[in-house]
Amino acid sequence: MTEKTGRCLCGAVTWRTGDAPNWAGICHCHSCRKANAASMVGYIAFANTGLKITGPVATFESSSGTERGFCAHCHTPLFYRSQRWPDETHMMAATLDDPAQFQPKAHFHWAEREPWLILDDDLPKYDATAGDNDA
Ligand SMILES: [Zn+2]
Ligand SMILES: [Zn+2]
Repeated sequence: MTEKTGRCLCGAVTWRTGDAPNWAGICHCHSCRKANAASMVGYIAFANTGLKITGPVATFESSSGTERGFCAHCHTPLFYRSQRWPDETHMMAATLDDPAQFQPKAHFHWAEREPWLILDDDLPKYDATAGDNDA
């Protein structure tokens, strides 16, 4: 399995894993867009057991049971964790060193997408995440 590595803008925080992602997708929900100041947010999810994040990570609780991690120096958003999925970390795909390692399989919270957004892909577009209204 190809190792996946990533980093924040300033490089103080790096991450790596040898695991294949549990899933990869794009979230259009309001919370993820605001938290990342982005029009949509790509996530690549890995098991916590194989994931190593090194450097000055800070976190905040963006909603009950949910934490978002970012570089304490440059403030690049890095990951999302929720008690709903306690065994995995959802890394921001844009922090990958090799963007081609992100191969999204679905869109989530499609109904919340920005009104101007037009995408011409064949990926499934879900109006939520399975069993979740707060991803
Ligand atoms: Zn940084
Ligand atoms: Zn989201």
